[in-house]
Amino acid sequence: MTITMQHDLQSVSLHGMRVHNLTMNQTIEEIGRFIETRSPHHVVTLDASMCVTAQTDTALFNIVQNSELVTPDSAGVLWACRYLGTPLTERVSGVEIVERLCASSGDRGWRLFFFGAAPGVAEEAQATMEARYPGCRIVGARNGFFGPEDDADIVRQIRDSRPDVLCVALGIPRQELWIDEHRNLLDVPVMIGVGGSFDVFSGRVKRAPGWMQKLSLEWLYRLYSNPRKISKVLTLPRFVWMTIRGK
Ligand code: UDP
Repeated sequence: MTITMQHDLQSVSLHGMRVHNLTMNQTIEEIGRFIETRSPHHVVTLDASMCVTAQTDTALFNIVQNSELVTPDSAGVLWACRYLGTPLTERVSGVEIVERLCASSGDRGWRLFFFGAAPGVAEEAQATMEARYPGCRIVGARNGFFGPEDDADIVRQIRDSRPDVLCVALGIPRQELWIDEHRNLLDVPVMIGVGGSFDVFSGRVKRAPGWMQKLSLEWLYRLYSNPRKISKVLTLPRFVWMTIRGK
């Protein structure tokens, strides 16, 4: 376990991958700096299941390594870094990053695009965020159920909307692979994979109650609300084993 500086940001190493050690406020400021550069930046929100998948999925592993910013999305990642002796300051989840970007969008002039989730969900998420944060500018929304024949049209819609931040909710690892494949075609400075965030904003999926989040039991609540999440939950014992063995 080593602590390194990359892109001038402090990071720790977890299962061979970098995780940056920033607070939520610092993360939003860093994203603001990425936007100012106008060149493409990929923000990865790393959770335990992605750590496990990346051990056997080389493409995903390399994408995480080559991304400009990796945030600790889950309680599992925070636990593992603490256990391995390089604790991180706080959890920086994708859903909260998007919430904070929406909150700052009006004042900072940031334009967001919501891409992903079932038909209608991104638009519902857009309506919720625009009502919650007056001045918030979500300049486009599009669902995440598409075939290869739609790709050119998706790229065109995003380019024409000229967002500063593209939020991609296609699930792990599809969202990371999609961003990596298209990062140089979109002319968007910040692209971030945000999993089920639009389902939460639209109200179709509830987040775990605060006390469960505090006890790091959000995964249990998700499993209770959606038993199809079992395959994701089943990666957790492997993650714990990898971490204990890696000490
Ligand atoms: N999704 C999508 N296209 C697909 C498969 C999934 O847009 O082909 C969406 C799905 O509707 C959901 C999100 O991707 O909104 C994945 O959410 P989940 O909570 O499963 O994300 P993860 O746990 O992978 O971060």
